Amino acid sequence: MPQQDLAFWQSRAAALAIEGRAFIDGSYRDSASGRQFDCISPIDGRRLTAIADCAAADVDAAVAAARRSFEAREWAGLKPRERKKTLLRFAALIRQHAEELALLETLDAGKPIGDTTSVDIPGAAYCVEWYAEAIDKVGGEVVPADPHLVGLVTREPVGVVACVVPWNFPLLMAAWKFAPALAAGNSVVLKPSEKSPLTAIRVAALALEAGVPPGVFNVVPGGGEAGKLLALHMDVDCLAFTGSTAVGKQIMQYAGQSNLKRVWLELGGKSPNIVLPDCPDFDRAARSAAGAIFYNMGEMCTAGSRLLVHRDIKEMFLDKVLEQAAQWKPGHPLDPNTAMGAIVDQIQLDRVLGYIEAGRAESRLLCGGTRTLSDSGGFYIEPTVFDARPEHRIAREEIFGPVLSVIGFDDLDQAIGLANDSEYGLAAAVWTQNLTTAHEVSRRLRAGTVWVNCYDEGGDMNFPFGGYKQSGNGRDKSLHALEKYTELKSTLLRLR
Ligand code: NAD
Repeated sequence: MPQQDLAFWQSRAAALAIEGRAFIDGSYRDSASGRQFDCISPIDGRRLTAIADCAAADVDAAVAAARRSFEAREWAGLKPRERKKTLLRFAALIRQHAEELALLETLDAGKPIGDTTSVDIPGAAYCVEWYAEAIDKVGGEVVPADPHLVGLVTREPVGVVACVVPWNFPLLMAAWKFAPALAAGNSVVLKPSEKSPLTAIRVAALALEAGVPPGVFNVVPGGGEAGKLLALHMDVDCLAFTGSTAVGKQIMQYAGQSNLKRVWLELGGKSPNIVLPDCPDFDRAARSAAGAIFYNMGEMCTAGSRLLVHRDIKEMFLDKVLEQAAQWKPGHPLDPNTAMGAIVDQIQLDRVLGYIEAGRAESRLLCGGTRTLSDSGGFYIEPTVFDARPEHRIAREEIFGPVLSVIGFDDLDQAIGLANDSEYGLAAAVWTQNLTTAHEVSRRLRAGTVWVNCYDEGGDMNFPFGGYKQSGNGRDKSLHALEKYTELKSTLLRLR
């Protein structure tokens, strides 16, 4: 076994054959127009390959293939056990190709190889396995109706499901949608982000190899326009979206303008992380607070971007957080020792630097604040911490980068008020040793996930994931996610 160091991964990268075509009805093909766009690696700004730029003809072809396979019941009509076996084979193939997929993800999105090999790709395989295992376990209901009736409540696949996903966890976010959608018997059209389409394109062939029939799993790479075409499509029954709140709002409008397709949204966040004076372990809390914002370069919908600290302990705790921030040095994403990789592209780099400028004008910069490793040609930003006030722009808007706002508070009610004073409600955390405080704070926080004495725990598929308020609707993960991809049917059968 060769030593897996930077040189190992670089040599693997050099030998990699990268597929950039769309996958429609069981085979790879160029876009109908022949149009392509460049796939640039944020590691060094170099072009990796050309990607099919899908437009109306491609989206129509993918939706038609999905519709045909669905109506023919080539997937939905299989015995649940057969669908389960096929999805388990699909998961096994993802694991078998984990090294290649991790490499694609790192090259494409700039994520550290240590993360893509340990989180993104195994997480996607686990997600497919988890829903595969549910297929032949989850049944319907027999209703306690009048004695002359047999009342059944069943769940049926909704039909053609479009999945439009972001770039921060490209394959994992896609799997959170396509795995339950496929498990429920739907046919899927997946549109990955134009910033990170490679793993979605690659796994389409693995699905086919596993036995998913042609037309059941299609991938149409492209930009916002391809996503819009899916959202406006009259023959898409359901659109599951993960991305920004701004685009989520547009997608709801497109659904209203077209066929009222079911729309499920996993959107942005500005999550509060509250540290109370009776925090059980300040060192662990500081380590966790840094991880909450610097992991994945802060490109996390659940990023703990607002650190709310009681004023009695603020200075002491800030020192610890700054010590921890210093550990998150940006480095080469293909080096297994790198904790922090590259920002996904020039656009996102500029956006984050713009917020840092706004922060410099309003708040007090405590560390970082600059672009680094520019000689590489890639896009890197130092972990950045500001002492901010709640009304500052950097403390209100989602930055989606490694920028932490630390905010002081004087009492618990004020902390909860500050935590909930956001258009978002994706996640939140509180650090306390008092069980009553923990439960009471958790109940009062308007967020889809609350962590107590930890942050970002929950790789387990059993936990539903999603937001309150403008962080979205519906939930990914858990058995509840299956509800998004099914219609409920009541069947009433009269005996006499
Ligand atoms: P984005 O909204 O810019 O893009 C998301 C996807 O939508 C991409 O595939 C994009 O091509 C497509 N798109 C863009 N414009 C569109 C349009 N008009 N119609 C249809 N589709 C369109 O988001 P992003 O920059 O890729 O991702 C970052 C955002 O995603 C952040 O706000 C982050 O919080 C959010 N996010 C949320 C979760 C969650 O589970 N809640 C998880 C990860 C990321």
